Amino acid sequence: MSSEVPSRPAIAVLPELVKNQIAAGEVIERPASVVKELVENALDAGATRIHLDLEEGGVALIRIVDDGGGIAPAEIPLAFASHATSKLSDVADLDHIATLGFRGEALASIASVARCRMFSRLRTASLGASVEIEGGRLGEIRESGGPEGTRIEVRDLFFNTPARRRFLKTTATELGRCLDIVQRLALAQPSVGFVVTHDGRRAFEIEPAMDLRARVRRTFGAELADALAPVEARDGDTVLSGFVAPPRFARNDTTRQMWFLNGRPLRDKILSRVLKDAYRGFIVDGRQAVAFLSLSMDPAKVDVNVHPAKAEVRFRDERRMFGFLVASLRGAVSALDMATPGERMIDSAARRAASAPLARQFTLPAPAWELRPEPRPRELPVFVRESAPATAPESTPASTPETTPATTPATTPAALAAPLASPPGAAESRGSPVRGPLLQVGRTYILVANEDGFEIVDQHALHERLTLEDLKAELARGAVEVQRRLVPELVEVGGAAAELVEPHLESLARIGLLLARFGSGTIAVHGAPARFRRADPRALVHEVIAAVERTGAAPGAEDLLEEILHRTACRSSVMAGDELSELEMRALLARSREESNSQTCAHGRPTRVRFTLADLEKAFYRR
Ligand code: ADP
Ligand code: MG
Repeated sequence: MSSEVPSRPAIAVLPELVKNQIAAGEVIERPASVVKELVENALDAGATRIHLDLEEGGVALIRIVDDGGGIAPAEIPLAFASHATSKLSDVADLDHIATLGFRGEALASIASVARCRMFSRLRTASLGASVEIEGGRLGEIRESGGPEGTRIEVRDLFFNTPARRRFLKTTATELGRCLDIVQRLALAQPSVGFVVTHDGRRAFEIEPAMDLRARVRRTFGAELADALAPVEARDGDTVLSGFVAPPRFARNDTTRQMWFLNGRPLRDKILSRVLKDAYRGFIVDGRQAVAFLSLSMDPAKVDVNVHPAKAEVRFRDERRMFGFLVASLRGAVSALDMATPGERMIDSAARRAASAPLARQFTLPAPAWELRPEPRPRELPVFVRESAPATAPESTPASTPETTPATTPATTPAALAAPLASPPGAAESRGSPVRGPLLQVGRTYILVANEDGFEIVDQHALHERLTLEDLKAELARGAVEVQRRLVPELVEVGGAAAELVEPHLESLARIGLLLARFGSGTIAVHGAPARFRRADPRALVHEVIAAVERTGAAPGAEDLLEEILHRTACRSSVMAGDELSELEMRALLARSREESNSQTCAHGRPTRVRFTLADLEKAFYRR
């Protein structure tokens, strides 16, 4: 029988070269992976200047020269052996890794799929040594002269693994990825200088003395770098430092969210979540903030050995970390200047003007955020205005019956602005008065001149933000004014939704939403915050359900409250399309001056666009 079974290969231990090529598959995917490993090695060796030459996107050549500590000639063969490292020696070391490398795999992997050469000289030695290694075969080690530090050349990547080579993209793409790696490491490692050339031309340069802001400026431009706001916070021996960018720099992806942990660039879902929370209400849903943040902490408090590329980590106390990061960043974010500068609009308007017909020259381009619908036409009978006493509309807008058409009492501008304008005279006492003429445009925007130019304020967005901040302040004081109903309003929501809301009834009561379960699928509304008096109880309940669904199974009370506040703040706000009296406009603007958070609405759209005199001079070619 056995002789009829087709012969099968015997089990055998793989040759070293094959083992290394398999390992290379994990970490060496493309030139950028080689660049990452080599630059990390140079940094681990204490280099302060790193020079990188690339050819053909790194496929033909990657040459790196560092001024780090170097390798002893006798250790060179070991450096290229797999699982050989100087960075850890026993299992306990894995718990507190302070170097970028530790797996002892990179050089062995690289040497198994390319033609390599190395020269290295120890700082203490007068001579160094060089060696060639091709497809894993180590040549003779020769004593030779050269500068302190290490030079490694990697040529013809994947020359012996054609399948890998076929997966490489265009030169430009591979170069882009190599540069991305170097830029991230350069941002992560202040005080180290970098030079990168490609096919003989300089592609990137950072001097050792440049601080983080200067590095961001060199890498991403002055507009972003100049707008960054610093972050500094500490929790025990964990220190957070770096910069956050104003919301207008937000992007569709997270590529400009750069986190560094003890000098290591990180990509971690939890850190994007941190930024999402920190910017909540300042950035429109779906957009991603821009930030450059560096964490320095005891290596024992984080596990970096989660993934071969070491880009993900596991914090030992994740909850505490999350809370600390969100709280510190939220403070920095709310201090940002969020007004959209008009300059960019003028720039593009001027550019368009060059080719556009005359009539269109002064139309500003649509802003990046969603355009409002056309203002709703409002049937304000003209005679009502005319019959009002000449002084009344300015002095007591909320209480003059003639200015309040009886048919639509709840949506008149006076009623909407009531919390701001009443009691009469309150406007002047809150915030500093706004001087100068005001102009309402399209029943939606208010033009305000200031010392340095003018602003266009979106009245609805601004009022929405102020209402939210008022609600939050009331909540913080434990002074939410509640309006109780004599007869509860019953809202049919279905069993599942009622179930979902039930555990949160207590926290909801704290923001003045008095709800109770009534039967299996009904929620009874017993009261609501006085500020929500215009809101339909049904809509409130459905918003509560949506908020619980959105924030997940067990949201913290604070999260839930904030979410509902966001959703409901706009219910009592001045809508676009409401004509405002001058007093109402002044009250709104004066109130916004005392509110540092008022630069975006509760949904993250800007509340104002600012034009400085400099912008105007530029627009009119005066400078
Ligand atoms: P790891 O970085 O995980 O230790 P590598 O294969 O990348 O593994 O490198 C192996 C060893 O070679 C390192 O531990 C280090 O001692 C040495 N080495 C590599 N590159 C350099 C360098 N540029 N300068 C000094 N030593 C180096
Ligand atoms: Mg390494």
